[in-house]
Amino acid sequence: MIEENLIQVKKSIPNNVHLIAVSKTKPISLIREAYNTGHLDFGENKVQELVNKQAELPKNIRWHMIGHLQSNKVKYIAPFIHMIHGVESFKLLKEINKQGKKHNRVIKCLLQFHIAQETTKFGLSYQDAIAILEDKLYPELQNISICGVMGMATFSNDESLVLKEFDSLKEIFTKLVAHSSITNDFKIISMGMSNDYELAIQKGSNMVRIGSKIFGARIN
Ligand SMILES: *Cc1c(COP(=O)(O)O)cnc(C)c1O
Repeated sequence: MIEENLIQVKKSIPNNVHLIAVSKTKPISLIREAYNTGHLDFGENKVQELVNKQAELPKNIRWHMIGHLQSNKVKYIAPFIHMIHGVESFKLLKEINKQGKKHNRVIKCLLQFHIAQETTKFGLSYQDAIAILEDKLYPELQNISICGVMGMATFSNDESLVLKEFDSLKEIFTKLVAHSSITNDFKIISMGMSNDYELAIQKGSNMVRIGSKIFGARIN
């Protein structure tokens, strides 16, 4: 069943769009099923769950931390995490750098922007991001790499609202590309989930994070 779902989802996205299979709350057995089809990118949003799953599953899986990450928990995922999607403060970025250094790794990060109407969704403003990039300590962060942006649209049936929000993230990406602190690694626009990824792709997403459409609805 997982295999069929993955095939369906992959058929519905262009080749240049990277698929993250969001496996949060789902058991190891289902992740293994997806892995056995050749899929390697999985997303989780809780540190403890991520650490437990990573320990049990093949080591060539690329784990993406897609949830809100507290600075004091970075140390648990720093040894193996492939990409952290939710960077939303300089404090967190500095901690990721510190832990990356300990493990002699450069950790890929995305800056998360607040693009939705809901105030509950986390994220930076464009000005916040500029402040990070222009902080005098920023050039010292040699163990992080800012690879792009991430955002979540309002959970809504109002397509024009969702499109507008995705468009605003694309616009932020385009403005940041030109910034002198931004490197050639800055390529990713992570936006789009099961219910809105087609709209996100219309607006330039090249990384979608899809859970329920692959693994089935979550109970919690
Ligand atoms: C849960 C989650 C997803 C996937 O959601 P679905 O609606 O199941 O596709 C994507 N991104 C983030 C940040 C999430 O927390």
